[in-house]
Amino acid sequence: MTLNIECEICQKEVKVIKVRKHIYCSKCLKQNSLKKKIHVLEKEAPQLINLGRYERDLYKLYLDYIKRYCLKHPILQQARDLLSYLSSNEIVPFTSWDQVYLESKQFSENYKVIMGLTGNPFIKIGKMLVELGVLPPKCENYSQNYLKLISRFPDDITDIIKNFIEFRKNRNIADKSIITSLERILFFSTWVNIDILLVNQNDIQNYIIHLQNRGNRQHNITPVYLSLSVFYKWCKHAKIILANPFEGIKISRPRKEVIVCDDHIVSQIMEFIKNPKSNPEQAFLLALILIWGLKSNDLSHAKIDITNGVFKIIFRRKKISTIKYYNRKQILELPKCPEWFFSLQKKFYTKWLHQYGQLKKSCPNYYLMLPRYRSVQTLTKDTIKTRVFEATMAAVGKKIPLSVLRKTCGHLHSTSSDSSILSTIGWSRDYCFKYTWMPRVYFQKKF
Ligand SMILES: [Zn+2]
Repeated sequence: MTLNIECEICQKEVKVIKVRKHIYCSKCLKQNSLKKKIHVLEKEAPQLINLGRYERDLYKLYLDYIKRYCLKHPILQQARDLLSYLSSNEIVPFTSWDQVYLESKQFSENYKVIMGLTGNPFIKIGKMLVELGVLPPKCENYSQNYLKLISRFPDDITDIIKNFIEFRKNRNIADKSIITSLERILFFSTWVNIDILLVNQNDIQNYIIHLQNRGNRQHNITPVYLSLSVFYKWCKHAKIILANPFEGIKISRPRKEVIVCDDHIVSQIMEFIKNPKSNPEQAFLLALILIWGLKSNDLSHAKIDITNGVFKIIFRRKKISTIKYYNRKQILELPKCPEWFFSLQKKFYTKWLHQYGQLKKSCPNYYLMLPRYRSVQTLTKDTIKTRVFEATMAAVGKKIPLSVLRKTCGHLHSTSSDSSILSTIGWSRDYCFKYTWMPRVYFQKKF
């Protein structure tokens, strides 16, 4: 006769039974004992060693963070280490990720940090501060990316690279663009395998041929060309080199075009959005992109607000050095008609409420798009990409990128009226203007 005894927590079958008040499997038993130890740290330790108020808040945030995940012994050790660190170091309140990185560096110099196992406690605290809205998202701080990139250049030119970065920053070029162009310069430098300040026109032309031979399309080669050209032009101007190796080289620009979905796909997607049987999350997502032209970044930070039965989407406002004003209104009020759209909003909201209830949160953050597990936080670009692919697979059986759907939105708006309407959905005048003349190419799945 076999006895089926289940663990009280995870309901898995328990093989070895020890006489205790509760029946737990070995995994849950271990988790329970770790939880108890963390609980002791949480309740008693901060008082015993007299932590400052801010340090105590940070410690609480750290414990909240680790409790979301499966606990391990090294983490328990880290919780103790952090306590001792916080009791001997006064922390200046964090207002930027740079401060967080500085503190985490100092911590790792004094205590053991195992990447991939324990990670750094200050990064975890930083993530919690993002949830609380104190810090901007980690991915928007590029200081670490710069440091890593600079270290990959030969030592004798790192100062030149640093000055070049400064020059580009002063021109209000976005960090992301500077980093991409630095990566291109780095690739080129590894390929030529000589001092990049000594290259000549031939080296550059050979590099372009090399890129073509590797199957790169002109579309991808032109940006490489431009990045290198800007760098050498600056080197010449800063009198680092005597002659610009780009002098006399002509760049052929690729044909400009807008890739959009054809009418058949558009009508299939619209049918899916209107169909009451469709998954409301997917239908709603497709509607927001195809009708309102939302971008990945809009989607990950947007929050929802429902007052008096009106569904509103609130966009994030952040300071961008290059853009001084916003075209788009911060609040998008969704219309109650047509009827199918109103019922889609209601179905979406019901599902959203359920999902929100399942997730852990340190403060109310009503993000429009919610993660499927763990805690309420903004979704990454990759997750949104996956969600859009899932939705288009369900609607038309094809993976269609968000950018193509968004361009289709622009195309639809500009063919049904004039393209000035696009500026009301937050697109710049130049970008809208493209829709009045650029040739359309229909999206086709590449195999
Ligand atoms: Zn169990």
